[in-house]
Amino acid sequence: MFVLILSIIVGAIIGSFINVIIYRLPRIMAGEKISLSFPVSHCPFCHHPVRWRHNIPLIGWLLLAGKCADCRAAISPRYPLIEGLMAIMFGWVIAHHGPGIESAVILFALCLLVPLACIDAATMLLPDRLTWPLIIGGIVTAWAGVGRVGWQEAGIAAVVGFTLPWALSLLFRVFFQREGMGRGDMKLFAGLGAWMGYGMLCHIMIASSILAILSALIILKVKPGQAFPFGPYPILVAIMVFLFF
Ligand SMILES: [Zn+2]
Repeated sequence: MFVLILSIIVGAIIGSFINVIIYRLPRIMAGEKISLSFPVSHCPFCHHPVRWRHNIPLIGWLLLAGKCADCRAAISPRYPLIEGLMAIMFGWVIAHHGPGIESAVILFALCLLVPLACIDAATMLLPDRLTWPLIIGGIVTAWAGVGRVGWQEAGIAAVVGFTLPWALSLLFRVFFQREGMGRGDMKLFAGLGAWMGYGMLCHIMIASSILAILSALIILKVKPGQAFPFGPYPILVAIMVFLFF
């Protein structure tokens, strides 16, 4: 019980750090002179630093009722949502796999997938700084014998994960003269292949394509011609696989 509560608290704290990554990484990539640790957390509207008690995951947002203590500007509900989501996922994984290496590798993957989905949804970018650790992490855990598949399958599935969307997007370009998938999506699929193996990778590709087509029908009905990110769909399916299969 103590371990479970501890893992939920750790999950919320890591969720708070993931919020920093989601907010700052695209800005760092755009050339802003900030890092993940500098400057300290501050309100983007009035630039007042956040007080320590308001920086406590979940509790801080509740204390503030979702508004900056200084200028009363609204703080995105994404902050408590990500903290709560990570707390639940950490608790769930520890409850099902116990404290140990098996849980650690699953949580490592989830800690990369959640910010990737959020950043892609907001900016249509899948940063290399998150996709490369996903690919390498998948191959290393498979090689160490603590992944879902052996290292040979992980390696092959990573290559398939990259080349299959690459070939499809090449065909797409030839026939429709339009960009299909971006390089980021290919690296994402390489990473998912490394973690899941080729069988599960195929399932993820099919399930996420169906999800993406269904939401494209809705999005394009509301906003014709609107570009939308693809990454969140395979990530959502992969998170489900990590949690439930
Ligand atoms: Zn403020």
